[in-house]
Amino acid sequence: MVDRVPFPLEGKRVFVAGHRGMVGKALVRRLAREPVEIVTAGREELDLTRQAEVEAWFERNRPQVVILAAAKVGGILANASYPVHFLEQNLLIEVNTIRAAFHFGVEKLLFLGSSCIYPKHAPQPIPEEALLTGPLEPTNQWYAIAKIAGLELCRAYRRQHGADFVAAMPTNLYGPGDNWDLASSHVAAALIRKAHEAKERGERVLEVWGTGTPLREFLFVDDLADACVFLLRRYSDDIALNVGSGQEVAIAELARLVCGVVGFEGELRFDPTKPDGTPRKRLDTRRLEALGWRASTPLREGLARAYAAFLAETRDRPSL
Ligand code: GDP
Repeated sequence: MVDRVPFPLEGKRVFVAGHRGMVGKALVRRLAREPVEIVTAGREELDLTRQAEVEAWFERNRPQVVILAAAKVGGILANASYPVHFLEQNLLIEVNTIRAAFHFGVEKLLFLGSSCIYPKHAPQPIPEEALLTGPLEPTNQWYAIAKIAGLELCRAYRRQHGADFVAAMPTNLYGPGDNWDLASSHVAAALIRKAHEAKERGERVLEVWGTGTPLREFLFVDDLADACVFLLRRYSDDIALNVGSGQEVAIAELARLVCGVVGFEGELRFDPTKPDGTPRKRLDTRRLEALGWRASTPLREGLARAYAAFLAETRDRPSL
């Protein structure tokens, strides 16, 4: 770690894999403030699930830094409904990209995982050491297994080849560029959309999945992007680092906050036929804080910015 940090980002060609997703967009916004060259590739140009395409692309474009933010992602129901997609596509994306990065001499790679990699009954807040110490939450185990494989691949490249490949595990994310589709979105985006539509239609009730009791920690996506840039410069170690916000709320409380931001004044109705998922998954972020980084966007402010983004992003595309 000692001689690899700080990693000089200045002047580097940085490939943001997954730049059309919520995280990738935030990374492009954040990196635009750095003296780097940002490289991206749309799906029509580069399908990360196809090995030959990925190798050819790396050979042509020669990025020096890679942030792997491309993934097949989805909320609790999508995960449970499409296990093959979540396991297979993520494994392919990870193996192809990490392998090509090594073979084409990438100097630094940051792989993004997720807090769902931890065991369902991990101690709270969850320390990095909890990885692989118990069974996963079944509703997203397919995605979690793929993400665990990805971070282990980074560790394997570090160990066997000395590659400067690192991994970060963000907690639940929300913000501009989120997936607003109710069938596949995560909870913050879903509640923003539902509260907005309920208000527009003059409805009195907002439906919230599950019991409302699960606790989740929420990180504004632009804070994550800031953490990524920080970690590229400052982190070079074997442990997949937690990136959290410390802002933990029950789903019912999140729903009330969203109603306040959106201006919906009806009541909440909980639907216990929908899954709750894991009861709690707050991340222990002491390692990241010791390095000198903390999240800065309060939840209410982040939700207001996410709602403004929802209005802008869906204005001309109501089906989004
Ligand atoms: P998770 O963190 O992997 O469980 O993913 P989600 O963000 O999809 O769900 C978090 C929690 O919010 C779960 O307990 C869901 O049941 C609950 N939830 C409440 N309403 C909704 C909704 O409309 N959509 C989603 N995706 N989750 C919801």
